[in-house]
Amino acid sequence: MSTELKILFLAAEAEPFIKIGGLGDVAGSLPQALKELGGVDVRLAIPFHGAIQRHAISQPSYTLSRTATFEIPYQDGSAHVEALATEINGMPVYLIAGDLISADAPVYTIDPGVDGYKFTFFSLAALEVTRRLGWVPDVVHANDWHTAPSVYALSLYRKPGSFFFKTTTLLGLHNLPYLGIGAGLALPGYGLPYAHDSMLPVWAQDLPLPLGLLGADQIVAVSPGYAREILTPEFGAGLHVFLRKRAQTITGILNGLDTRYWNPATDTELSANYQLDTLERRGTNKFALQHELNLPLGPDLPLIGMVTRLDSQKGIDLLPSALRSLIDLPWQAVLLGSGDPVLQDALQRLEVEFPQRVRSIVRYDAALSHRIYAGADLLVIPSRYEPCGLTQMIAMRYGCVPVGSAVGGLLDTILDYDDKIDSTGFLFPGPSSQALASKLRRAFDVFRDLDAWDGLQHRGMLQDFSWEQSARHYLDVYRDMVTRRNLVTQSKGIKR
Ligand code: ADP
Repeated sequence: MSTELKILFLAAEAEPFIKIGGLGDVAGSLPQALKELGGVDVRLAIPFHGAIQRHAISQPSYTLSRTATFEIPYQDGSAHVEALATEINGMPVYLIAGDLISADAPVYTIDPGVDGYKFTFFSLAALEVTRRLGWVPDVVHANDWHTAPSVYALSLYRKPGSFFFKTTTLLGLHNLPYLGIGAGLALPGYGLPYAHDSMLPVWAQDLPLPLGLLGADQIVAVSPGYAREILTPEFGAGLHVFLRKRAQTITGILNGLDTRYWNPATDTELSANYQLDTLERRGTNKFALQHELNLPLGPDLPLIGMVTRLDSQKGIDLLPSALRSLIDLPWQAVLLGSGDPVLQDALQRLEVEFPQRVRSIVRYDAALSHRIYAGADLLVIPSRYEPCGLTQMIAMRYGCVPVGSAVGGLLDTILDYDDKIDSTGFLFPGPSSQALASKLRRAFDVFRDLDAWDGLQHRGMLQDFSWEQSARHYLDVYRDMVTRRNLVTQSKGIKR
């Protein structure tokens, strides 16, 4: 009999099938990294979104086979499920199609109310697939509100003797404020009652994410810093009192970076490849970036980069007044972002205000982002909150020194120049324009000290942000969860 740990990983999106945001990176990388550690049978399930279906037909890069066809209870009748299977590097992947997963719908609609029906369907159908296959997961690892219903369902229906009796559940928290408001309307139709009379505040008793947080055996935030912050009124999205009661079961594990993809030594988007011992070549990329964007050329001008979603979370609104207050100093800025039209406008106005210094590129441009990481001297990340954050890790790997607000994953990954001997960047207390401006001023000072700057770049490039590190932490947590669940099932088994 196999002693492999069986893990079912559930997510709304995953690379290489579909990626909308950071969750797609995590769901694409973490299961693979777990598999590479060995001793685990990890399987991924995602919805067979319309975009994946179209891609599978037009550019088939994997083969699909029908693995199960069944119905799940829905409203007064049932909903039809088609589960297809494929493999990515030997890891089984289940793509769940069926009545509630419309081929015309985007991965996420603006209205979570609509998405609630789709994702609850997916969450329950994916569990049922494992039952049909007779493959009992030791751990169900769900992520965010979309798949939280699976965790909640298991907490309700994991009775002695049932298929999932020994299964333990983990809910990954990538962005707490996305509670699934409106999506809870779907739950009763799938036999999931609201949790009235529970520890949850009344307003949260019918929302998918809080219900998942209530039912999960373990909650994992995507950085240790964020795991602490969500217990405070400032970052707890109204759930801090509830979460404090669950503090024993909350931990934080930093996301990893795909270090094969993000590698300045092999990155094909760059003018010049470089690594630690050829860092001087990096200057070619700065020159090329200035040239590409028609900025005055100069190696000595500190070049600030930014690569971000334009969302109030990211603190972009702090940037204009911070930059204005630094007008007495020489600097340039290349700002790449897309999202909120108000913030797009603010960035574009900044370019009009500083035509010799600022370039605002308001679009999603993966190739340009690589050239910014490789060409800018500093990467500015003024987030109001940051569950983990990838851009500071990418920047460090590319020898671009991060200047971030002291929150969440930024606090965990950036060691401040004035605070730590082994510093890798700059941290300022946020959210404040003045604090950002004075930290940038400080960074410009250090930039002129060539040895100090070189040290910052080197230490940043030497950081290990690989997924292997994160996967090891997850494996420890899974093993601990299984041990705890075994104690529960043994005692319940005896009572039975
Ligand atoms: P979040 O997931 O909250 O958006 P992260 O820092 O975790 O923030 O990840 C952002 C990822 O998206 C990074 O890989 C970053 O390079 C990329 N990114 C964000 N905005 C853009 C953009 N406008 N163009 C290209 N890449 C972007």
